[in-house]
Amino acid sequence: MQAGVIAVQGDVSEHAAAIERAARAHGEAADVVEIRQSGTVPECDVLLMPGGESTAISRLLAREGIDEEIKAHVAAGKPVLATCAGLIVASTDAKDERVETLDILDVTVDRNAFGRQKDSFEAPLDVEGLDSPFPAVFIRAPLIDEIGDGTGAANNAGDVEVLARWDDDPVAVRQGPVFGTSFHPELTADSRIHDLAFFDQVEVSAQ
Ligand code: GLN
Repeated sequence: MQAGVIAVQGDVSEHAAAIERAARAHGEAADVVEIRQSGTVPECDVLLMPGGESTAISRLLAREGIDEEIKAHVAAGKPVLATCAGLIVASTDAKDERVETLDILDVTVDRNAFGRQKDSFEAPLDVEGLDSPFPAVFIRAPLIDEIGDGTGAANNAGDVEVLARWDDDPVAVRQGPVFGTSFHPELTADSRIHDLAFFDQVEVSAQ
């Protein structure tokens, strides 16, 4: 499996380790490539869009022409896991003109809604499809404040499913091949979110 981690900015190595772990658990090998320029996304089976700073990530994706490649990847039905800033960039509207969203996930997000860096926290989270809580790390996390009817996203992949909520607000969603989380599943040793996003079933049990 060729896995591309969008590496223009953000926590790249953690995602690389998480997809390698998840693949191993499914008897596959993930060949991880870091993406900083156009030309590589078309060779990837799956993509990871890490956390970081969404303004910087969206600007660099557009400058390098990677934005259109990610949209084509999703239009072809290939999976993407977008976490935190990655979720913001994947959304249809980040309510911030500095973020050029990719429109691959029909949600509206509110950047930094969970507070500033000092307000970051970890919480056990019930996630649909997992039989025990997931240790979710929130770092200046975006709030998903509107779930679209599925027609807002350019890929038109149908309904947006809410897979987890924190304080009633959605924090994990899926629309067809695109899985988005407000939190950082790559920052724990638990690879079950990567399992759900890329293998559709969970092999690795909670740590
Ligand atoms: N708040 C950041 C942003 O708006 C995202 C934070 C993160 O990815 N940990 O881009």
